[in-house]
Amino acid sequence: VLKGTGSGALPPMLEQYVTMRDEVAAQLPHAILLFQVGDFYETFGEDAERAARLLGLALTHKSSKDFSTPMAGIPVRTLDSFVEKLLAAGVCVAVADQVEEPGAGLVERKVTQLLTPGTVTEERHLSADENFLAAVATGDGYALSLLDVSTGEFRCAAFHTRSALYDELARHRAREVLLAPELAGNAALLSDFQGRFPVMLSPANFDEAASEAEVRAALGELPGTLTSAALLRACGAVLGYARLTQQGRLDMVRRLVRYEPGAHMRLPDAAARALEVFQAQSPQGVTLMDVLCETRTAGGRRRLRAWLRAPLLDELSIRARLDAVEQLTRAPDLRSGVRALLYRAHDLERLSARVATTRATPREVASLARTLELLPEAAALLGGPDTPAGGLLSGIRARLSGLPDVVTRIRAALVDDPPLRVGDGGLIREGFHAELDALRAEALGHRAWMAELETRERERTGIAALKVGFNNVFGYYLEVTTPHLGKVPPDYRQVATLKDRARFTRPDLREREREIARLDAAAGRLEGEVFTGLRASLGAHTEALLEAAGALADLDVLSALSEIAAERGWVRPVTVADGAARLTQARHPVVERAAGGRFVPNDALLDATRFSLLLTGPNMAGKSTYLRTVALCALLHQVGSFVPADAAELPVYDAIHTRIGASDDLAGGRSTFMVEMSELAAILHGATHRSLVILDEVGRGTSTLDGLAIAQAALEHLHATRAHTLFATHYFELTRLEAELPGLLNLHVAAEEDASSGEGGSDRGGGLTFYHQVVPGAARQSYGVEVARLAGLPAPVTQRAARLLTALNAQGDDRALLRELATLDLSRLTPLQALEVLHGWQRGL
Ligand code: ADP
Repeated sequence: VLKGTGSGALPPMLEQYVTMRDEVAAQLPHAILLFQVGDFYETFGEDAERAARLLGLALTHKSSKDFSTPMAGIPVRTLDSFVEKLLAAGVCVAVADQVEEPGAGLVERKVTQLLTPGTVTEERHLSADENFLAAVATGDGYALSLLDVSTGEFRCAAFHTRSALYDELARHRAREVLLAPELAGNAALLSDFQGRFPVMLSPANFDEAASEAEVRAALGELPGTLTSAALLRACGAVLGYARLTQQGRLDMVRRLVRYEPGAHMRLPDAAARALEVFQAQSPQGVTLMDVLCETRTAGGRRRLRAWLRAPLLDELSIRARLDAVEQLTRAPDLRSGVRALLYRAHDLERLSARVATTRATPREVASLARTLELLPEAAALLGGPDTPAGGLLSGIRARLSGLPDVVTRIRAALVDDPPLRVGDGGLIREGFHAELDALRAEALGHRAWMAELETRERERTGIAALKVGFNNVFGYYLEVTTPHLGKVPPDYRQVATLKDRARFTRPDLREREREIARLDAAAGRLEGEVFTGLRASLGAHTEALLEAAGALADLDVLSALSEIAAERGWVRPVTVADGAARLTQARHPVVERAAGGRFVPNDALLDATRFSLLLTGPNMAGKSTYLRTVALCALLHQVGSFVPADAAELPVYDAIHTRIGASDDLAGGRSTFMVEMSELAAILHGATHRSLVILDEVGRGTSTLDGLAIAQAALEHLHATRAHTLFATHYFELTRLEAELPGLLNLHVAAEEDASSGEGGSDRGGGLTFYHQVVPGAARQSYGVEVARLAGLPAPVTQRAARLLTALNAQGDDRALLRELATLDLSRLTPLQALEVLHGWQRGL
């Protein structure tokens, strides 16, 4: 632990450190131990080197005659900000505090906190979104369990493939992943995860018997949904690990949801990234989540993310959400009422979890009450004719009711604006607890006596300037300025002499002071007890609280989706059974917003007669935008949202696959082309006739001929699966496939080379006008040189490029001519026909 140590014996404090560090390492092998030494938390040895590197601290040495070890420390009051940095870097932290006043000997210290990225619950360390701790075990496939300690959400699922597991972890943005020991040798899996998730190898206990005990302890039973040993072990491991870091308390965990990844539309991580669902591809980019995030509460925001992460497959569930959005859209008053109310809500889910784990502060309990008070109001809003029985909204209404006695209980016990901490006192309301009231009244009497003391003593001594003061050293004192010192009565005892005055005390003063302190302490203790009792009694309602929190979150998302639909003129999509997608005047939800009114809407039609669309057109014409528009509308539909279009009919897709753009996976050390091909491989393996596939510029990462060959082969393969495919390409050679593959259609994005007046949504520059309009047929040419000119390439370069292009095209003509010559059957050609062929060739040159 202490490398660099010399031969001599360690000083007692470092002995203590080493013992404690070993104990921590047995539980969290990679944790850094922050060890309080007076006003600092110190680290030593290897920890000091790591901490110095991670936190940018100065590395010093603790040395004596015959030993020396690296040391780095942080001031005690800066703990939070440094802990945050360590957690963000995926490092676990153990904090050892001095638990007694320093005296002559060695100070006693205890580990008071174990903080890990996936299990922190303090608001200041949490992200507003989910904070999932994950565990993975294997058996028949992979078993995953996910636990958000801050809300108590606990889920598990089984996967057949590594990539499905990986997608799921990415979707949940797991903050910490525990891997079962058997995965330690799984190099492929480890390299997939490296640098993406903070992976902890086996600090958790994946033992089957221990896991069963953990699950039983947390849930009171062994759920039947834990159908395999791997699932049980994954669940047991997260629970055990979470319990370790929560000082044994896991009361927020109430139920385990076993979910079927197949119950949701597949949106592989690559597709989610390409469509910029949660994460923009450029730092200042806007995501779909940003556009949709009109939610008013943190719980609603988390719920929206959950919906986007897991679009629905079940037509009835989709319809139920769409119904609710439509009802809110048609009733603007209801919607604005709901939204105004949500604005006043606190994070009910988190607060409930904090109450359940008995961590809630007085202020948090008051926030809980304030939020719960909104529920009857919300239920009343949803009781009108705009929310027919049987729908999601009336279900939400039912889930929101109940719990009024909880509010009453909190209100009766707590003052309106309680202090941050229990120790601050003054949190229990007057009249709630007789004994407490008596203690307070008595202390108040003594204080009043003190307050009147000044007047009394001035009269008694005749010193008009006599003052009563208070400080932490002497407590209450009487102060007399030097000229009047002669008049000080004999019962005053001098305690301090200042330049121009002296301070005195009196035995009876001391006594009252001690009495006040005693009464205050007793009242404080009692307040603590009353508060703890209150909080514990609330814990019994955790399930109802979480139910209400969930209902509020659902309501928030539905009203946000409705708000967007109403404001932006989105339309309710119709779920169709004939497998066709028909979008009229569809827009890209993000680009539309950026483009203001200048966005050019487009139609899209995919059905049994046209399921492969090949899109050509110059760069910057709007191909990518068109592709993404279709994919985003399909995604929104299955999330239960309206879509940015004038009319929309959509099938239920089993997956949206996309391969867009060239994203370098530098962290993974794979080349752009390698990434492109492995993503393409996943798509070709995964796409079915019910999938939507979006491919943009496939093959760009390699030489032209290679790329063209791969693009064509991929397109042919997808065509055979009959997946709805939108394929944007700059390989014009592919457009001739239209003649060979029934169901494949050419489209292009309109652009014009002459400099006619650009109207409507066109973008103009140089000799090229973009209309962003998708029209039937193949594009004429690539306009690449034109775009290069627009981009400001020097004129001589673009002119030279134009000449080269002509020459290359001519070469292409030459080749075509040679091919034709090679295939001419001379034995059947009459001389006259031969002459005609020759004539044709000459004309073409
Ligand atoms: P491509 O894929 O053909 O190179 P993009 O889809 O990336 O083209 O679009 C190029 C630019 O044109 C983008 O900046 C985008 O904002 C704009 N654009 C694309 N489609 C439209 C549209 N339908 N209406 C308005 N602007 C658009």
